[in-house]
This record gives sequence, structure tokens and C-alpha cells, in this order.
Amino acid sequence: MTEMVRKITLSRAVRTMQYLFPLEYNFYPRSWILPDESSFFEKEIRMMKDRDPSWKPTFIVKPDGGCQGDGIYLIKDPSDIRLTGGLQSRPAVVQEYICKPLLVDKLKFDIRLYVLLKSLEPLEIYIAKDGLSRFCTEPYQEPTLKNLHQVFMHLTNYSLNIHSGNFIHSDNVNTGSKRTFSSILCRLSSKGVDVKKVWSDIISLVIKTIIALTPELKVYYQSDIPAGKPGPTCFQILGFDILLMKNLKPMLLEVNANPSMRIEHEQELSPGVFENVPSPVDEEVKVAVIRDTLRLVDPQKQKKKDIQRFRLVPMCASTFPVQTLLPITIEKWHLYKFAEQRSQTLEHVSDAKEELLDAGPPDRLEHDANKNTEAGLPSLCLKQVFPKYAKQFNYLRLVDRVAALFIRFLGVKGTTKLGPTGFRTFIRNCKLSNSNFSMASVDILYIDITRRWNSMGIDHKESGMCWQAFVEAFFCLAQKKYKSLPLHEQVASLIDFCEYHLAVLDEKRLVCGRGIVERRNALVTCQTDGLQLIPAAHTSLLNRMATASKLADYRNHQY
Ligand code: ADP
Repeated sequence: MTEMVRKITLSRAVRTMQYLFPLEYNFYPRSWILPDESSFFEKEIRMMKDRDPSWKPTFIVKPDGGCQGDGIYLIKDPSDIRLTGGLQSRPAVVQEYICKPLLVDKLKFDIRLYVLLKSLEPLEIYIAKDGLSRFCTEPYQEPTLKNLHQVFMHLTNYSLNIHSGNFIHSDNVNTGSKRTFSSILCRLSSKGVDVKKVWSDIISLVIKTIIALTPELKVYYQSDIPAGKPGPTCFQILGFDILLMKNLKPMLLEVNANPSMRIEHEQELSPGVFENVPSPVDEEVKVAVIRDTLRLVDPQKQKKKDIQRFRLVPMCASTFPVQTLLPITIEKWHLYKFAEQRSQTLEHVSDAKEELLDAGPPDRLEHDANKNTEAGLPSLCLKQVFPKYAKQFNYLRLVDRVAALFIRFLGVKGTTKLGPTGFRTFIRNCKLSNSNFSMASVDILYIDITRRWNSMGIDHKESGMCWQAFVEAFFCLAQKKYKSLPLHEQVASLIDFCEYHLAVLDEKRLVCGRGIVERRNALVTCQTDGLQLIPAAHTSLLNRMATASKLADYRNHQY
């Protein structure tokens, strides 16, 4: 996950979706990757300026893998990029700077929202009902050459603004340099703003972003977590940084895989003497996030329920039931324990409360939450948004299906790169080669794209075609095959085509597999190509149903 949300990887993942669905993914500022796209960036900006001489853009350069505003600077022209020297020579993302943010008390602020990715397959997403608003400490002015360097005016990072003399620690969630997002919404609502619309736009941004991230995440996931074993499952709490524009449109700034869960801040009592003091705003938002995450993800709850009939089992490190995608930091571990103890105490109120942990469909979730409030439990702050809104967003999940194809042909367990044989097998099994597209052309396509992606220095640990290269090759094949359609339809058609041929192949293999069983270990010549036979009797019906539905889907689509 840490890899996935690095600035470059996130930009690439969102960009892939922008190619397919430009309108749906216009919540992410236009971005270029440095140094790979430096000349492209310069050329594109020059062209745009020539077309519209009144356009005076500002750009923000953010080092890849940086955090807390580290190494970030603003520029007015591509030629201002600092290509040499320490920090600045790191790969980076350069982005269009959002010049007109919504201001509160004349200050720029951003929103930190906590999102629980509860499960990848099936996709389950929860959003915390409240978040944090982090304020700049100098009144905002649109960027000019004079004020470009004023970080307290342009960057909302807490870690930077805390060093400003204007930073206000507040023990009230409605004031100061860090406030709850709900307090901002209340204020906006009192001014007549449609805050429901703001929320639904934010939910949509979060779901779409996660849809953009899941395909590659699945590629990493299958290489790290063996498939087919029951539990443990993974979850992740993500920190989404969002900026509201003046017109209230939310824009995604970045996603944090390891958001700070501190509920205290440092106070300088006398020069050089610091003390940790509680931060009510952080506590209000973060404790609820951790508590509800534990309520939702604990896979041992059923087991615990049985044990609890006899005795109370305190949680300790060795029995911590869920595996996070990241190691748990000490700081988080204490918070987990704290929240776990609180929720555990509450869990014992009655067996009926256990139902809440299942957090079924959202209506039921809210209903259950109310039930629990009545019984003395705090209501859930995490709101399920996926699969609740799946119907509205499922059409965007095309690249997930491309990832399923990629993973199927990876072959060797634990790898994330496709070798030339795997790629050829993919082409052959999906019947993509013909007189106009020979296997020699397939090899050239493979070599061209793989070499280019590998030269970008993404990951040299393994050789072969990386996931992004496969996506590019897939889009290329789709464009070749379905010339006149828009890109997303070309890609969807190619996915249908591939899935259809693979379903037919699976069906054949199944028959072949049954033959093997029936002839009691007799040898059957069955074309082997790296795909597995699925001989288990109980899977055959499911597979046949899946095949039948794929064939039907494909036929409906074709005619
Ligand atoms: P970091 O991980 O270093 O905090 P961010 O991407 O969150 O990097 O950027 C730091 C800050 O810079 C944000 O909190 C925001 O205030 C500002 N910022 C980032 N990108 C933009 C942008 N495209 N337009 C306007 N402000 C931005």
C-alpha cells in the first residue's frame, strides 16, 4: 500500500483512469512525472500558453515518497524546476496548483479524511463521518512570484504550520489551526451551502480513487498473500488529503498509507522543554476511527463470542487478530490496544452487540448503530460507502478485470512481472493473434513496452513486463482491435473478448479434467500453458455457471 500511494504511483493509477473516464476523474490536478516527462511537461505547457496567452498557471513540485510538505515548492514556469542538487533531484510529481481554494477566515485549509479499506475482494470501503481540517497560518493570496515561497500561506501541512508564530492550538473543535471537518460543514451550512452535495462529491472522489488503486494493489497482494487460504485478511486505514476549491469541488491532493494517529501534540513549556498535551480535535476524530475499525475488521469475533461465554480474554500482541498491510507502529499499537480495550468492554454488554460488528448493508449499519447508541455504545463513525454505492461505480472497475488477466498469466507465485512466455500465452489463449498481428509483432510489442517501462527505473528487482506496461500493451491491443470506439469501450470490448476465450478454455479443461478422473489416472494429453486445471468437484458447477454467464454476456454484447 505504501508503494501504491506514493505520489508517482498514485498519479499513474489516476491517470490510467483519466484516459478511460476523463470526466469522472477530473478531481485530480493535471500531473506530470519528473524526470521522465520533463520535456513533455515543458512542451505541453508551452503549447497551452501559446493557445491562450492570458493563462498564467502555477505548478507545485512534490518529491515522490515525500511527506509533511518535505521538498515541495511552487513554480510559475517549467524552466523553474530544480533538476540538480540533493533533495530536488529526486523523482517528483509536478502538478497544476489549485489557485482558488475555498477560504475560511481568509485562510487556506485542507481536509484529512480517514478511510477504511476493509477488504479488497470483495471491495469494502468505509469513510469516517468526521475528519480534520488543517489550516494555513498566513492569509491566503493567489500565487505571485513574490509570495510563491511563503509556505505558511500555500501549504496546509500541520508539520509546517506548527512552526509558525500564528499557529493556534485550540481545545475547541470549532476554532484554531486544526478543526473538525464537521465544524467547517456546519459553518458552510449556516451560509446556505448544500453540504450534502459536498459530502456526496467527497464520497465519490474516495470511491473512484480506491477503484483506481485496486488493480495494482491486487497485483502486489497476490504476490505477498497466498491465495486460497482462509484468513488472515488485511485491512488498511488510509488518510485522504482533499482540498475544497472555491466552487466547493473537492480535489484529491494525496493518499497516505500510514496516517498519523497521534492524539497529542507537543507544547513548548519553556525554551527547549516540551510536554505532550492531549489534542481534543485529534482525539475526537481518531479514537472513533480506530475503535470502529476494530469493531468492523476483527475476524475472530465469532471465535471470541464462543470463548466469552466462559471467560473474558484480554487482547495482547500475540493474539492481535488482524494483519495490517503495514507493520503496526508502537504509537498505533497503543492506540489499537486502547481502542480495543474500550470496544471490548463495550462488546460484552450483550451478544446482540456482536451483530453490529458484522456491519451489514448501510441501512442496517445505521439502524444497528442507533440500537447500540441506545444501549450505551457510541454509534459507528465509519460509514460504509462500498458496496453500498457499488451500482453507481461498478462501470469504472474495468482495470480490475485487466488485473485479473495479468495475474492469471503471471504464472510463478510471488512475481509481479510477466515474462515473454506468459505474454505470448496470454495472446494465444485469448486468441488475439491473427494474420494482421503475428506472434513476431507480439514479441516486438512486448519488448518495446517492457524496455521503456523498465528504463524508467521503477523496479529492477525482477525482469519482465510490469503491471503498468501490461496496461499500456492492453490499451494498445484494444485500440488496434476496436478502432472506432471511445477508449473505455475499446478496453471493455477487449476484456469481454479475452474473458470469453478464457472461459471457453476453462470449460475445455474442465471436460479434460473430468476425463482424467473418469479414466482413473490415465494420462491425457492436455495442452499445458501455465494455467491450472481445476479438478475439484465442487468448483466445477461454479465454473460452468461462470463460463455460461461469460459466454452469454459476450454474445449479448456482440449482437
Ligand atoms: P505531502 O505528502 O508532503 O504533505 P501533499 O501532496 O499533501 O504533500 O502537499 C502538501 C500541501 O501542499 C497540501 O497539504 C496542500 O496544502 C498543498 N498542495 C498540494 N498539492 C496542491 C495543489 N495541486 N494545489 C494546491 N495546493 C496543493
